[in-house]
Parts: sequence; C-alpha cells; structure tokens
Amino acid sequence: MKKWNLIIDVAECTNCNLCTLATQDEYVGNQWPGIAAEMPKHGHRWIDIKRKERGQPPLVDVAYLPVMCQHCDDAPCIKAAENGAVTKRDDGIVIIDPEKSVGQKQIMEACPYGVVFWNEELNIPQAWPFDAHLLDAGWDEPRAATACPTGAFRALKVEDSEMRRIRAEEGLQELQPEAATKPRVFYKNLHRFTKCVVAGSVAGEISGVEECLHGATVTLLKDDDVVARCETDAFGDFRIDRLDPASGGYTVKVAHDGFHGHTMEFELDDSITLGTIRLSPG
Ligand code: SF4
Ligand code: SF4
Repeated sequence: MKKWNLIIDVAECTNCNLCTLATQDEYVGNQWPGIAAEMPKHGHRWIDIKRKERGQPPLVDVAYLPVMCQHCDDAPCIKAAENGAVTKRDDGIVIIDPEKSVGQKQIMEACPYGVVFWNEELNIPQAWPFDAHLLDAGWDEPRAATACPTGAFRALKVEDSEMRRIRAEEGLQELQPEAATKPRVFYKNLHRFTKCVVAGSVAGEISGVEECLHGATVTLLKDDDVVARCETDAFGDFRIDRLDPASGGYTVKVAHDGFHGHTMEFELDDSITLGTIRLSPG
C-alpha cells in the first residue's frame, strides 16, 4: 500500500518560511474535524525552520533545517496517548485527535523531536498533520509542499519498498536516528547540520606580493590516515566537510608547486576556520 513520506533537502532550503506561513494560514482560524483544531495565532510553529552556522568569518556556511512532525511508524506519542487519542492512518500519517487528546500533555512530552505544541486555550497537544484534510479532499501534496519555491520540501506517496530504494539512491537520512521511531520524514544533505567543516585559505608570496594560491593541495590526516584531500579554489580557499564533531586531533598538510609545504595540527571540536596558511617560496 502506498504511504506518504517527506523528503527535505537541507541544501535547498533558503529559510523563506513559506511552508511555515502556509501552515499558519491553513490552521489559524480554521478547524478541520478529526484532523486539527485551530492553531493559536502566536507561539506555535508546526513547521519550524532551524538555523545552523558553521565555521567562522569569512568562511561561514549557513544551513536551514525544516522540522515538523516526523509521522513516525513507531511513534512514542501513540504509545503515550490514552483513549486512542493519537493514531496512525493507513497512509502513514499520524493524527492527534483534537477532541480525544484534551488534557493529555504526556503526548507532547513523549515526542523526542519537540514538534508537538501545547494549545493552552483548548488544552490540547498539536502538531503538523501533513495537511491530511487536503489530501483527503484530493490534493496531490500537502499545502506546505506546494508553497516551497525551491523543491526543498517534497512529499511523495509510494510503497515502503520504493521509499527504501529512493532513500538509498538519494542518501537520505533520519533526524535523530538514535530515537529509533521509524520516521516518514527523510533529510537530504543533513550533514550541513550534523557534521563539521574545516575551512581555510592558502597564500604565498609571488614577486614580493602576497597572493591567494589557487590549486594548492590540502590533505587532511587523522592518525596518519588520509581523511580527505582537495584543492584550493581561485580565491585560495578550501573546505572539507562531513567530519564528525568532537572527533579529536587532525593534521593538515598543504603543498603547492614552487613553495615549501606546510603542516599544522588542530583539535576538531566543532566546525573551524583555520585562517590563512602562508607558504614560503621554495
Ligand atoms: S514526530 Fe513526535 S509527534 Fe510526530 S509521530 Fe513522531 S513521536 Fe509522534
Ligand atoms: S518553503 Fe521550502 S525553502 Fe522555504 S523555508 Fe520551507 S522548506 Fe525552506
């Protein structure tokens, strides 16, 4: 049976917030029986856009991560709910019933992703219901997906076997895999949020003037093993991505024809910009 999934491409999200605003427009002042009660005007972000900055100026990398109910197949919120207040539909969508969930704060507390909001006025937990009322009315994707101008927010209804194939083919990842909730939301380029980057610039003196060195070879080693290798760009800059946070000591070796090589060591806690590495003429 075909079920709904989301693919969020972190590299394509520009933080335009149109998915968030479309969701607020859909639910503030509107109630959809069996799917969602009205969303409060303030304080709720059923689709939230988180921001991550990596490195230090001038080599800074900024990424945005849309986070919403992950529509888990093994959902802690369903286990925490009483009276069948949270259910999984046959199409994979998780619904918090706006009437049965009254007073059930434990539903919000059980969610490991922090995407359930408490509606003080109605005394209920609320999360993004995948715009299920629109899909039931014949829409072929949620409104939040139609609002996205970059393709960062993509919904698709496929067999789970097909989703496994897409997941492998596109290198999709789960948010917080340690939660083991079998989410139906998958992220592309999640390393922009979860991994570290090492960046820097290479310069050298040419005819008495310091110049950026294009094409310098930068080799990153850990315990004498090569982790990554790249070349500096036209501005003499390099960046090496997908390194594990707090992964300890590294050595970087820089080489360029006509210059002495340079070696430096550093500890990687979080993303780091090594500054300008100056090579002396060889
Ligand atoms: S993300 Fe949270 S609220 Fe949504 S299904 Fe999973 S556990 Fe439940
Ligand atoms: S609409 Fe698309 S690009 Fe804009 S914030 Fe949402 S996911 Fe990102």
